[in-house]
Amino acid sequence: RQAEFAKLRDLPAITPDGARISLFINAGLLVDLPGLDLTNADGIGLFRTEFQFMVSAKLPRRQSQARLYSQVLEAAGDRPVVFRSVDIGGDKSLPYMKGVEIEEENPAMGWRALRLALERRGLLKVQARALLEAAAGKDLWLMFPMVTEPWEFDAARAVVEEQRLAMGARDEATPRQIRYGAMVEVPALAFQLDALLRTADFLSIGTNDLIQFLFAADRSHPNLADRYDWVSPSILRFLRQIIEAAAAAGKPVTSCGEMGGRPLECLALLGIGLERFSITPAAVGPIKAMVRATPLAELRTAMAGWLATPGTDIRARLLAFSGQHGI
Ligand code: PEP
Ligand code: MG
Repeated sequence: RQAEFAKLRDLPAITPDGARISLFINAGLLVDLPGLDLTNADGIGLFRTEFQFMVSAKLPRRQSQARLYSQVLEAAGDRPVVFRSVDIGGDKSLPYMKGVEIEEENPAMGWRALRLALERRGLLKVQARALLEAAAGKDLWLMFPMVTEPWEFDAARAVVEEQRLAMGARDEATPRQIRYGAMVEVPALAFQLDALLRTADFLSIGTNDLIQFLFAADRSHPNLADRYDWVSPSILRFLRQIIEAAAAAGKPVTSCGEMGGRPLECLALLGIGLERFSITPAAVGPIKAMVRATPLAELRTAMAGWLATPGTDIRARLLAFSGQHGI
């Protein structure tokens, strides 16, 4: 079906009833950038900045961070790029970083991502400077990983704003506009979106971590990989709350985990109201084909009914729906 997906490259991701769905790609290194033009995606919905740190023998200096971010923005042109501040620590540990050698029993729930960055302010400040320099005169979209309480988001944003003001005071060029987002990947945050959305400009749902924490099931454990269903009512009802909170606040919400790149799972996400997906480049063709065959209003009505009926086998319903509509 590769040839069929290639033909879709220049066609928009629009449902038969006229809803335009945004498809972005996930990236992390320069080698990922050709994926933008190959897929004709709407932009980069998740740029994992920690990859540069993981492939370096020592902490990347500000100049080399800024160079990478400039190249990414250059390749994207007018398309938005959502940079994520470093998500290191836990299982993505850096041998050259001091103070993170503590053996963690549960690294996924450990001292990682924003938790680490807020205590290693130097790291976050340098990264902020590199991003602000690279995006000078352009729009900067920046999101923070593993936000658990709204104050962590506010604290991280304040670090970046402080750098922006300092650069401005030195007459250095800064971005035209900065949009700050939070990844929703720790379940606790989903219950404080009212507070978070007072200051956050957008949300990005990290389904990989979010589902791991909701099911209390390690995302990388082979025995658990297929144990729970990603389209179970537990997950979909939970995600629906997040999507509705963002919609009520008028703020964009995207998903950026693996779930959005699997056609049946993505169909479920469309059904609960999501319209923006950041996915692995190879998934853009299959997801676009699915979108272009899906009567969205009908799907949403059906999904609302399934989720309102206790014990519904959502996967079976989605499969039947796909069959009926030739999805
Ligand atoms: C996620 O958790 O869903 C996510 C996109 O981030 P990562 O996979 O890098 O943890
Ligand atoms: Mg994550």
